Amino acid sequence: MAPGDGIQIPSRLPLLLSHEGVLLPGSTVRFTVDSPRNMHLVSQRLLKGTSLKSTIIGVIPNTRDPEHDTDDLPTLHKIGTAGIAVQVVGSNWPKPHYTLLITGLCRFSVSSLLKERPFVLAEVEQLDKLEQYTTPVTEGATAKDGELGELSHKFYQAAVQLLGMLDMSVPVVAKFRRLLDSLPRETLPDVVASMIRTSNKEKLQVLDALTLEERFKKALPMLTRQIEGLTLLQKTRKISPEKEKRVLSVRKGGALPGRRFNLDEEAEDEDGDDTAVLEKKVHAAKMPEAALRVCLKELKRLKKMPQSMPEFSLTRNYLDLMVELPWSKSTKDCLDIQAARTLLDNDHYAMDKLKRRVLEYLAVRQLKASLKGPILCFVGPPGVGKTSVGRSIARTLGREFHRIALGGVCDQSDIRGHRRTYVGSMPGRIINGLKTVAVNNPVILLDEVDKLGKSLQGDPAAALLEVLDPEQNHSFTDHYLNVAFDLSQVLFIATANTTATIPPALLDRMEVLQVPGYTQEEKVEIAHRHLIPNQLEQHGLTPQQLHIPQDTTQDIISSYSREAGVRSLERKFGAICRAVAVKVAEGHRVTMTDASTSERPAPQGDKAAPPEMPIVIDHVALKDILGPPLFEMEVSERLTLPGVAVGLAWTPLGGEILFVEASRMEGEGQLTLTGQLGDVMKESAHLAISWLRANAKTYQLTNLVGGPDPLEGTDIHLHFPAGAVTKDGPSAGVTIVTCLASLFSGRLVRSDVAMTGEITLRGLVLPVGGIKDKVLAAHRAGVKRVILPQRNKKDLEELPANVTADLDFVTAANLDEVLNAAFDGGFPGIASSHTQPQLTSKL
Ligand code: ADP
Repeated sequence: MAPGDGIQIPSRLPLLLSHEGVLLPGSTVRFTVDSPRNMHLVSQRLLKGTSLKSTIIGVIPNTRDPEHDTDDLPTLHKIGTAGIAVQVVGSNWPKPHYTLLITGLCRFSVSSLLKERPFVLAEVEQLDKLEQYTTPVTEGATAKDGELGELSHKFYQAAVQLLGMLDMSVPVVAKFRRLLDSLPRETLPDVVASMIRTSNKEKLQVLDALTLEERFKKALPMLTRQIEGLTLLQKTRKISPEKEKRVLSVRKGGALPGRRFNLDEEAEDEDGDDTAVLEKKVHAAKMPEAALRVCLKELKRLKKMPQSMPEFSLTRNYLDLMVELPWSKSTKDCLDIQAARTLLDNDHYAMDKLKRRVLEYLAVRQLKASLKGPILCFVGPPGVGKTSVGRSIARTLGREFHRIALGGVCDQSDIRGHRRTYVGSMPGRIINGLKTVAVNNPVILLDEVDKLGKSLQGDPAAALLEVLDPEQNHSFTDHYLNVAFDLSQVLFIATANTTATIPPALLDRMEVLQVPGYTQEEKVEIAHRHLIPNQLEQHGLTPQQLHIPQDTTQDIISSYSREAGVRSLERKFGAICRAVAVKVAEGHRVTMTDASTSERPAPQGDKAAPPEMPIVIDHVALKDILGPPLFEMEVSERLTLPGVAVGLAWTPLGGEILFVEASRMEGEGQLTLTGQLGDVMKESAHLAISWLRANAKTYQLTNLVGGPDPLEGTDIHLHFPAGAVTKDGPSAGVTIVTCLASLFSGRLVRSDVAMTGEITLRGLVLPVGGIKDKVLAAHRAGVKRVILPQRNKKDLEELPANVTADLDFVTAANLDEVLNAAFDGGFPGIASSHTQPQLTSKL
């Protein structure tokens, strides 16, 4: 073929060597470019040129293995495609590269190489004519009839047939349809070969086919193969397009409630003998003897019933469920401890203790197939990865995974099902779950067992006991099924926020594994290894489009999410991704940092600094997207008056810092307590006041007018802010003492100290629980010194090294030591602080 009168491509073309894809005339392909030659081509040719001609380049497939690509030029493929670069996008991350969008124009062959550096330039010969074809495909045969005309007609027909099998609502299919009717037939092989599923090798064959006949002959089998593949697929799914439509319309019209309208049934209805098929299924379901007997009995009744009877559909639903249950279907465990360890490590950062115990558990299971051991129960604040570890366990075992949320379940029929005598009766969640996963040995995660309720309809915890008891669960009887189902192959795992509200009998069956909250550093690692990549993927973004630096992550952690886990952190990343997705979709590839100067300077073509960068989220962008910070470092600001101290509290949601405020006024020695306190907390307040009054002389504590009894002529008000949250527990004792000591002495508590510990009337400090979570909360809040009961010293070993390095721990055995550590320069008493308390209580 020689170039004709149509548009000519330049005879000297810069060549792009492409490892990735094969560009065919008429198609548009995205190329990522990072080799030095190609980078130079973009920066020195495409970005510097100003004419339309300068955007035309040649794309030559580089058949050399990219792993072994060296600096010297490979032997070039003999044929390439000239194309027009319609978009150039540059990025520096993770390494400098460009992404080019190129639309193919025509084939060319290389006549001679002109230069190899900085990019390849060659003298080329145009092989296809541009604007050669003028006959749209729909206007009958082309000028060249005969074999070619026949071939092109066949090809067109096949393309139409393929389109008929595809879903027109998919954009690429709709585009294909439009192209098919508007393009000249001669261009079809190229266009179709690039749209249907073909390998690079096959595309290369089409590229190398220089005559039209050859091109049609090469591309037609690919098209036919695609059609055959689709036909086979549709056959196996037993869907013909009409039937699918009919099924859909039936579904829209609303099938009987509770009845699954599956496609197989539709086929059966056509056979006209519904019950016969059902009977076959009953026999094929491999259910145990007892269940089979029940099914056959029900089937017999069903046959005698008229279809219009309401009971017909009830019985039919029941039998449908029975045949669907995985009575003897199971997956094969594929447990390899080495692989399990890698998988757990890959999926989850930190949580070493938990991972170790899970591996032990799995190892024992491997050695002894039927493990009747305890049920693992992960206990920890929300968002620390309890559910996701459960999911990983299922993956390591190669089992199906099903999660049952128990929060708020207060009716035992939720677990065990309703009897069939009820209208709207249905099986319980366990049987439903097994139906969904369709195997009898899944991993079932019982989420939030601590939030089970109780009501008149029976205790769901009691039903769960039966489910979890290895001695009983091989014959678990759901009320709806009314026959036993063997649950002994199911691996149950439970999760909870706290053990306090798990019914004791249930707790007794479980082995509790604590999953504490994360430190700031762990969260940063988790964010960058897992959360950000996940969110990018979920939002269809790539790291080349969005970059969140570590500083920003730290900011989000401290100012926008104050939590023990990482769930709200993950949501914040989601919000950022959404905001960036809008920008990317709008094509505003302006870095957020210079959002105000909307036009970026013209590209300079410097390879090290490509013109377009990923959107970088810095502090300004963060504020734009997430709004003003939600949390401030408030500890030091609030400790500017006497009568305020910071305590540490444990809640099911993790540790928290807790302010205690006190004020005094003239009165009769009344104590007012506010902030929704529980009884134990109120007692701590009374204890604190008594101890301080008893030791008032020692510490020179005075009342409003300087009198020796702090309570004389004085009313005291103690408040625990965040008044809407109920607070209880003894561990605020030391904080109340410190707060009141500050009030009575008029001295400020150190602004960087937080404390926890129970007190006794004699001034001793007793150990408390939840130390790890409390210390992590103090660390999150920017506290520098933590005062703990001496007997809690051992708990410090569990803390990550970076946290212990940041904090100064003071372990106190009595209140004297607490006060000395809480005030700058100590809190000196005149004599021994342990004088006998002599009380005349006014409370
Ligand atoms: P939980 O069940 O404890 O409330 P999830 O398992 O739902 O929490 O975890 C919330 C999210 O945080 C999930 O997307 C999970 O993948 C992620 N996540 C939590 N901990 C980790 C971790 N250590 N490493 C990686 N991702 C984690």
